[in-house]
Amino acid sequence: MRKHIVAGNWKMNNDLNATKSLITDLKNEKNEGDAEVIIAPTYINLDYASQTLTNTDITVAAQNMHQAESGAYTGEISAEMLKSVGVSTVIIGHSERRAYFNESDDLLASKVNAGLKNDMRVIFCFGEELEDRKSGKHEAVVASQLKNALFHIEKVAWSHIVLAYEPVWAIGTGETASPEQAQDMHAFIRKTVAAQYSQDVANNVTILYGGSVKPANAQEIFSKPDVDGGLIGGASLKAKDFFEIVNAF
Ligand code: PEP
Repeated sequence: MRKHIVAGNWKMNNDLNATKSLITDLKNEKNEGDAEVIIAPTYINLDYASQTLTNTDITVAAQNMHQAESGAYTGEISAEMLKSVGVSTVIIGHSERRAYFNESDDLLASKVNAGLKNDMRVIFCFGEELEDRKSGKHEAVVASQLKNALFHIEKVAWSHIVLAYEPVWAIGTGETASPEQAQDMHAFIRKTVAAQYSQDVANNVTILYGGSVKPANAQEIFSKPDVDGGLIGGASLKAKDFFEIVNAF
């Protein structure tokens, strides 16, 4: 059966000192539920995070990676490099990557392939813009994001996939999808995966909700049957807030 996951996306926050201090604070918190805890610090602190969190139940993920194995890609980081510092989970397709770095569905498909080829777990993010929701196109947009960047993978690869539905209008805005909106979309996503693959694949895939999840709203969102956890931005930068969310299951 699918697992609960709460993942913190630190984005471009926390230098080395701040990373050390937040990781110390996180290690002092207690996971009282059954959710796997993931943190995604910036690249340069992944080695430190991964080493420091060895033998704890906090997993370290990267926020992005390049699709090529190696080569003349100045400034980029490969799957193999991530794995060499003990990181085998990667976030792909975050809306900020799509919007500010022009990451297209095709590019994301190749990043997904690179992750799977290197035996990594991929947290695949997607979600509609506000105009899509206002015009009633949110389900069609989400279905096409899944189809174009993910539905080429083999059925067996789904054990390496975590889905993260993040309506763009709710990320970093303080505006959250209502628990009902999240549930409706998660149920739609599961139905779409079932139609493309199988009910079994759909039942087993973890689907996270992301978009202004806070200690105050996590419990209600996580109480929905198709919401299996959260991808948390702002509230993952304070250990107490983050663990209140982790313990909201
Ligand atoms: C995110 O960046 O994935 C996110 C959900 O951010 P926030 O929680 O700050 O809205």
